[in-house]
Parts: sequence; C-alpha cells; structure tokens
Amino acid sequence: MFNNLTQRLSHSLRKIINKGRLTEDNIKDTIREVRKALLEADVTLSVVQTFIDNVKKKAIGYEINKSLTPGQEFVKIVKNELIVSMGEKNNSLNLSIAPPAIILFIGLQGVGKTTSLAKIGQWIKNKYKKKILIVSTDIYRAAAIKQLQILSKQIEVDFFESSTNEIPIEITKKAIHHAQKKLYDVLLIDTAGRLHIDQKMMDEISAIQTLSNPIETLLIVDSMMGQDAVNMAKIFNKKLFISGIVLTKTDSDSRSGIALSMRYITGKPIKFIGTGEKLTSLEIFHPERIANRILG
Ligand code: GDP
Repeated sequence: MFNNLTQRLSHSLRKIINKGRLTEDNIKDTIREVRKALLEADVTLSVVQTFIDNVKKKAIGYEINKSLTPGQEFVKIVKNELIVSMGEKNNSLNLSIAPPAIILFIGLQGVGKTTSLAKIGQWIKNKYKKKILIVSTDIYRAAAIKQLQILSKQIEVDFFESSTNEIPIEITKKAIHHAQKKLYDVLLIDTAGRLHIDQKMMDEISAIQTLSNPIETLLIVDSMMGQDAVNMAKIFNKKLFISGIVLTKTDSDSRSGIALSMRYITGKPIKFIGTGEKLTSLEIFHPERIANRILG
C-alpha cells in the first residue's frame, strides 16, 4: 500500500501529527519501518542496530517543523544520519607523494578488481594527465595477466609485463624499479584474488604491501555479495592496511545497503562505485545518492 519509505513513515507517524514533538513512544512504529527498510536494502543486522540507536538519539525531542509533515521530517533525520555515517565529503584518491604514487588493488576473485583498476587508471589519466604504469601480480591465472594487458591497451596506459613463472614480490620489485627509472607518476598494482580468503593470499598481499608502501590500498567489494562481503572486509581490514573501498556492481538490483555496512565495519571511506561493465562506468562516491537508494 505504501511503496516508498516517506509514505510508510508518514503513515506510521500520523498519530503524532498534532503533538509536535518526537518521543521514544510515538516513534516506535516509525523506527520499525526504518529498520525494515535498512534490512530490505541488505544492511548488516549489527549495523542496523547501531544506526537505529543513533537515529533515535537524534530524533527524540525533535520538534516537527510546521512546513514539513512528520514523515518528511523523519526521513530527513534518517537520510542525514545515513549521509554522515557513510562519509559526508567525497573522498578522492591521494596521489600527493613523490612519484611513483603506488595504488594496490585487493579483493576476492570475481568482485571486479581488475576492471576497477582499469576504470580508475583511466579516471586518473583523464583527470590528472598522469603518466601511468599498470602491472599484474596474479601469477595463478595467466588469463588475469592477459586481461589486464588488454585493458591497458583500451585505456591507453603502459603495461608492465609479468608471467606465471615469476613470484609476486619479484614482479612488484621490478615494476617499481621500472616505474622509478622511466619516471611514471602512478603505478597501479593488481593482486591475485581467490574465491575465499586464505592465509597464503593474505601473506602474499601483505608482503606486496610492505614492499611497495602504497599511498592507497583499495579494497574492492562486490555490492551483490551481502553478508559475505561484510565478513570478507572485516578480515581484510584486520590483516592489512586499507585506505579506501571501491563498491562494484552498484548497477545491479541491490539497494547498496552494503555501503553503510562497509563504512561502519571498516571505518574506511568508500572512494568509488562501479556502475557497469564499461570502463567509463565509474563514479566518485556520493553518499546522498546511495542514501536515497537505501531508503528506496
Ligand atoms: P576480478 O576477478 O575481481 O578481477 O574481477 P573482474 O574485473 O574480472 O570482473 C568480474 C566481472 O564483473 C566481469 O564480467 C566485469 O565486467 C564485471 N564487473 C566489474 N565491475 C562491474 C560493475 O561495476 N558493474 C557490472 N555490472 N559488472 C561489473
């Protein structure tokens, strides 16, 4: 009957229209609606709980502005809290370091890591006119190295050759040396992803991170993975230093509640979102857009 959240909240708040002030008691039903909306948007349960507590703190005692209905007013409180929680400012990449600025791409297999690397490479190239080198350290899948090489041609940036006979740390060393010698501004390093996290994968990424000392380490997260993505991010964030998150496949049906979960669970900013398979399908993260999607 009530399709969007504003309508649902307005309905549940109709009893307090003339009371003027939000109280713990009169927002009970409304809070239930907010909880439902967040769960429907696939926000992790523990995050929903914390978020609801924060909204309650903001809402109780709040005087209804006469120009808005209580429903609109409440949606405004919830939306503001979502925007603040997901990061108010847009968080771009940090490239301010003596070149080459190294960016490490990490994440599970199939989440869109290699595609995101190419998208971001193209974005940096167009925005900053930087000289960029890209390299793959995925020695487990020849196809992954080949894929990155093809993408490098498409975005017209240089590709540092590597092969499945080498070891990742040596490839990294050689690529950094080459980037320094040839005066590249930026070096993008792709790492091997697996279907599940394992110790060998973590040790390998950790060794590459220690050696390359990246200015950015971006964790790539598939927005369709739900709770699995949250568990994965927790482990990555515990074992490695992560500077930001790239949320891929936001063009899917998912309502992107994972953006809120990621921010709460890792405390790290979401820097970009992937919005399709094309290499131009990349956007800087705008919390207000995702907030609208989560609220439906
Ligand atoms: P990797 O194994 O993590 O390196 O994943 P890939 O970069 O190979 O991507 C896996 C699949 O996801 C490919 O088919 C990509 O085209 C697709 N993909 C990556 N990012 C997006 C996105 O933002 N939206 C959609 N719809 N597909 C994406």
